[in-house]
Amino acid sequence: MIENIQKAVDILHQSKHTTVFTGAGISVESGIPTFRGQNGLWDRYNPIMLEINNFYQFPKESWQDIKTIFYDEIGNAQSNPAHYAVAKLEEMDIVKAVITQNIDNLHQEAGSQTVYEFHGTVKGMICTGCNSHYDSDTVDLSDLPPRCEKCNFVLKPDFVFFGEPIPEAAREKSFAEAELADVFLIIGTTGEVMPACMIPVDAKRNGAKLIEINIAPSKFTSSVDLFIQGKAGEVLPQIVEGIAQLLF
Ligand code: NAD
Repeated sequence: MIENIQKAVDILHQSKHTTVFTGAGISVESGIPTFRGQNGLWDRYNPIMLEINNFYQFPKESWQDIKTIFYDEIGNAQSNPAHYAVAKLEEMDIVKAVITQNIDNLHQEAGSQTVYEFHGTVKGMICTGCNSHYDSDTVDLSDLPPRCEKCNFVLKPDFVFFGEPIPEAAREKSFAEAELADVFLIIGTTGEVMPACMIPVDAKRNGAKLIEINIAPSKFTSSVDLFIQGKAGEVLPQIVEGIAQLLF
């Protein structure tokens, strides 16, 4: 692994425009489980609560699970060394943008400035009636489902449910970033969620070198230039340290 970390250091040090692409794996060391796999959220919960038609039909029941997972559990999680390392790479002017499939806001909390949230965020809520936006911290979740102060329609978390389209701005900016990248760093994602999994494909087609960090091979592994098998929270700080030694 040390040899691969040195290779990543050399590639990133020479990069003019690195784009980072993250999935649930980068937040595992913050205590947030992935959806799939062993101990994944789908072992304990029924994914139907995140289907948009089911949400409209049974908002109270959906909200009971959504509150537990996304506001009680994820709401208390904190950024880990992997998030901080990504922010540091941006501070070093190597990383230009982070595209994340995560909704947990942990990149921003670690200091990343340019973050495209492909699947939205837990930090906001949106009214299903009048489209008003709310900061989640200001919404009372003691009586479910939460309702809009203006029109009394049900509020929905401002993240993408199954059956919903990707927010236009995040989609456009993410694919544009993939095309600008000379290095594309993939961290902690299975690559099974469409259309997000097409972003690295686009980056490769446009000539970017692909580096992947994951504890296990993913759908991307056979087509990346460098695969580093390990925990994001252990690998990324070593990469930052290696680059810092070259810079200072
Ligand atoms: P996933 O659950 O399908 O896959 C997670 C990946 O992370 C796996 O490939 C696994 O091997 C890897 N992994 C686990 N621990 C790791 C570690 N310590 N270091 C590096 N890699 C590690 O996740 P996904 O591909 O991101 O797709 C699921 C969807 O669910 C995404 O759209 C995401 O938005 C959403 N999701 C988000 C969160 C969050 O916001 N934190 C949590 C769960 C799911």
